Amino acid sequence: LISKLAKINDLDTLQKSLVQFENSLEKGAGTIKEGIEGCIGDTPLIKIKSLSEYTGCDILVKAEFLNGAGNSPKDRVALSIIEMAEEKGLLIPHSGDTIYEGTVGSTGISLAAICRARGYKAHICMPNDMAIEKSDLLLKLGAEVERVRPAPIVDQNQFVNLARKRAEEHTASPDKPGRGLFADQFETEANWRAHFTGTGPEIYEQTGGLLDAFVSGAGTGGTISGVALFLKSKLPDVKIVLADPPGSGLYNRVKFGVMFDSKEREGTRRRHQVDTIVEGIGINRVTHNFDVGRELIDDAIRVNDQQAIDMAQWLVEHDGIFVGSSSAVNCVAATKLAKTLGPGHRIVTLLCDSGARHLSKFWKHTEPVGGAENDVSLEKILDA
Ligand code: PMP
Repeated sequence: LISKLAKINDLDTLQKSLVQFENSLEKGAGTIKEGIEGCIGDTPLIKIKSLSEYTGCDILVKAEFLNGAGNSPKDRVALSIIEMAEEKGLLIPHSGDTIYEGTVGSTGISLAAICRARGYKAHICMPNDMAIEKSDLLLKLGAEVERVRPAPIVDQNQFVNLARKRAEEHTASPDKPGRGLFADQFETEANWRAHFTGTGPEIYEQTGGLLDAFVSGAGTGGTISGVALFLKSKLPDVKIVLADPPGSGLYNRVKFGVMFDSKEREGTRRRHQVDTIVEGIGINRVTHNFDVGRELIDDAIRVNDQQAIDMAQWLVEHDGIFVGSSSAVNCVAATKLAKTLGPGHRIVTLLCDSGARHLSKFWKHTEPVGGAENDVSLEKILDA
C-alpha cells in the first residue's frame, strides 16, 4: 500500500522503521499522562553546547520550564503543597476551598493551573513591580490577583503577609464557601520535599550520579535545599553553590555567616527589596526552606544584572535557548564555577522559566538578537 501510494523505492527502510514502531508501542504502553499533574517532573537535562565548549566542562541544565502545568519548577512545589493539604483533609475539591499565596509569580501560576484542574480557587498576592505577563497569565487562569506595593516583611501588607491574612479572613467569613488555605511556600516543608523527592533524584539518575556541583539561586530556598539534601546524601563530595543577585543577603550568609553587610547592620533601615531586575531569586531573610539546607551550601557566587542580561542574550544567540532572568543568573554562576574548577568537571543547574514571562521587563534590556552589537564574549560576561 505504501509503495503504491507514495511511489517510493526504499520500502525496506520504511518497513524496518514500522517494525521498530510496533516494538516501541509495547514499551510505550502506559505513557499517557494523567492530566496536567501528570506532566510535572521528569524534565530533560540538557547540555549547553556553547558554555560546555568554552569551559571544557559539562554545563548541564534541567529544563524546568518544560514542567507542564505552570511551566516552572514551582509546579512540583504547588502539587506537593496541594497533595499534602488534601492528605491532611485541609482541602476538599469543589467545596469553594481557596488557596492563598504570596508569590512573585511562578508559584502562583503553578497553583492557579493546578487549582483549576482540581476544583479549587486561587487568590494570589504579588508585588506590583513584577513583569506584567505574570499577573496577566494569572488572571487568564482564573485566579484572583492582588498586586501590592513592595514592602518590608514587617509590613502587614507585604505580599506574603497579605496572602496569610486573606486566607484567615476567608476561613473566618460566614459568607464565603469552603475554607482559605495559606500555601506558605517560604515556610512549608512541602516545598523542599518536592525537590528532595523529585528534582534531586532526577538529576542523580540523569547524570548517573556523575556530577561535581549543583548551582542554584534561592527565592524560598526550596530548590537549593531539597536538591542539596538529596545529592549530598548520595554524593558527599558534590559542591552546592548559591547564585545570588545584587542586594540579596544570602550571599553574605553563605560566605561570611552574616545576613547583612556592616553598613546595613549599623542601624540603617534594613533593605527589604533585592536591588535587581532579576525576578524570583534573592532575599533578605532566612526562610525555613533555605535554613533546612543552609549548612550544605559550600559557596556563593554573586551575579549582577548586566551579566544576567548578557548571558540570556548569549544563550539565544548561540544555543537557541530563550530563558528568564533567574535561569540566566544560574548559567552565569555555573559558567564561572566551571572556570574556577577547570576543564573536565560536570556542573548542573536549572533553567527555571522561559523568557516569554519576562518580555516586558528583563528582556527589554537586551539588544536585538542577531544584531551587530551582540559581540559580547563569554569572557567579558563573566568579568563584568
Ligand atoms: N526562579 C524563578 C523564576 C522563581 O520564581 C523562583 C522562586 N520564587 C526561583 C527561581 C527560586 O526557587 P526557590 O523558591 O526554590 O528558591
